[in-house]
Formats: sequence, structure tokens, C-alpha cells
Amino acid sequence: MATALIRGLDDLRRTINSWRQQGQRIALVPTMGALHEGHLSLMRLAAQHSDRVCASIFVNPTQFGPNEDFEAYPRDLDRDYALLEKEEVDLLYAPETSDIYCEGFATSVRVSGVSEGLCGGNRPGHFDGVALIVTKLLLRVLPDLAVFGEKDYQQLQVIRRLVRDLDIPVEILGGPTIRETDGLALSSRNAYLNPTERAIAPALYRVLTDYAQKLSTGAPTDLNEACSELIAAGFNRVEYLEWRSSEGLHPPAPGREPGQIPGRLLAAAHLRSTRLIDNVPVLPLADRD
Ligand code: AMP
Repeated sequence: MATALIRGLDDLRRTINSWRQQGQRIALVPTMGALHEGHLSLMRLAAQHSDRVCASIFVNPTQFGPNEDFEAYPRDLDRDYALLEKEEVDLLYAPETSDIYCEGFATSVRVSGVSEGLCGGNRPGHFDGVALIVTKLLLRVLPDLAVFGEKDYQQLQVIRRLVRDLDIPVEILGGPTIRETDGLALSSRNAYLNPTERAIAPALYRVLTDYAQKLSTGAPTDLNEACSELIAAGFNRVEYLEWRSSEGLHPPAPGREPGQIPGRLLAAAHLRSTRLIDNVPVLPLADRD
């Protein structure tokens, strides 16, 4: 069956209802398009856990700051559709902005705590926009399962909190980060990198991996040195590079330190105007194989 391309809410509900009446388990994979292998890996994960996969493509204006790349964000619906069809995704839902944000729209969704700091500290309002659009998509599709990438680790935690707090009856599944062979995490924004920047970019994963290894021993580790290594590698600015607990993204505290509990090392760094994010697990030594 060809992938159905649906733009309107009534058509979406009709299709989803017909699947539900047949007792099928439905998975949603929200994206902003410009699809790459990372996105496609989530489609495959969704297919393993459901009968029907619905991908959504919506470049959500409310999660972009005023000086961010909303206008420049890559958009190519035909190419994305062809990729989804090859993956045998059942439905591509691509709503119009005016349909998502009707005239007079006045509602916000804010997840405090886990949204604060890291990306949330540097992109005010970003996770409010994410929480809002994810809530709307979940309410429109009413999937049994929704799949998100660990590439956006803080976003995944925000969504888990949101779903728990609002009793949204959906299972949230996280998919591992898919990388280029040199370690660079796939991202739609990698298209902004010129060849020189592209050669520097894998240093982000390399440095994160090195320092995650050091942190896992519990030995004192200076993360400022990791930032300096990124600058020495050619990054123009390190926005943040921090260890957090993997559950709830809490900062270190007595009894909650690297090497003691499962954590995550997360960073955002800039290559001229391109902002890259990445994160890696920090497993206490005892938890490793
Ligand atoms: P985006 O289109 O950037 O909003 O991403 C849509 C979904 O794909 C999000 O859940 C992301 O975390 C996920 N994603 C983006 N890049 C990757 C990657 N390299 N590997 C796995 N998932 C990814």
C-alpha cells in the first residue's frame, strides 16, 4: 500500500479511526522533516512495535526563537514522502501551520524542572513549543505508542514528564542516536555545515565519549577541559557541556554523582552559525559489561 499523505484533521481522524476499529496498534513518529537515517531508524523501531506507523512532518514555529533558523530550516516534502514510502510507513501527516495554530490560539503547555537548563536555558520557550506541538499531535493521532530520538535527550525527558503528568495514554519509546561513521550524530542541521566545519564537527562526539569514560570511573573530572578541547578542535563556542542524571536530568548532588548512578553527558556547541547538540551515556563502571 502506498503511504497516505494527509494534510487535514478530518481525513486524519477518519483513517486513524478505521485502523482503531480493526484493533490495530498505532505508532506516531513526530518530525520536522528533512528526513535522514536517524528519522528512518525511528520509523523502523515504530514498525517493530505497532501495526501502523504514522509519521508527522511539521516545522513548528513556536519552538523556534526569534533569531533562530525557522525560515531557513530545510523543507522538501516530496523527498521526505519518497523516503517514507520506501520504508512502507502507512501515513504521512503534514498539517498546515494555520490548521495547527488557529486564529486566536491562546493555550500554552509548560513542563517545568526537566525543561530548565541545558537547551532550555539557552533557548527560552523552546520546550514550551515542543510540549505544545507534541501534546497537539498526540491528541490528534491518539497513538498507542510515540517514538522519539535520544539525540534530543532533554526533549525525550520533557515528553516523558508531560505524558506522565497529563495522563496521556501513550507509551513513549526512545530510539538510539544514529551517527555518521566518524561519530557525528545525524541531524537535519548538518546540511548547514561547510566542508571545513563538517571536518571539525565529529570532535563533539569524540570529546563527549572521552569525558563520559572518565566520569564513569567517579574520578574528579574537569568538564571545562572538555570545553577547551572543543574550542581547540575548532568550535567557536560551547553553549553548555554538563553531566546530568539520566532520569530527570538532575545535576550532581551527594549520592547523585558521576560514577554512582546512570547519567548523561550532554552538550551544545556552535560551529559559526550552526548549533550542534549531542549526548552520550555515562554508565557507572559497575553497570558496564
Ligand atoms: P526533528 O525532525 O529534528 O524534530 O527530529 C524528529 C525526531 O527524530 C526526534 O525525536 C529526534 O530526536 C529524532 N532524531 C533526530 N536525529 C536523530 C538521530 N541522529 N538519530 C536518532 N533519532 C534522531
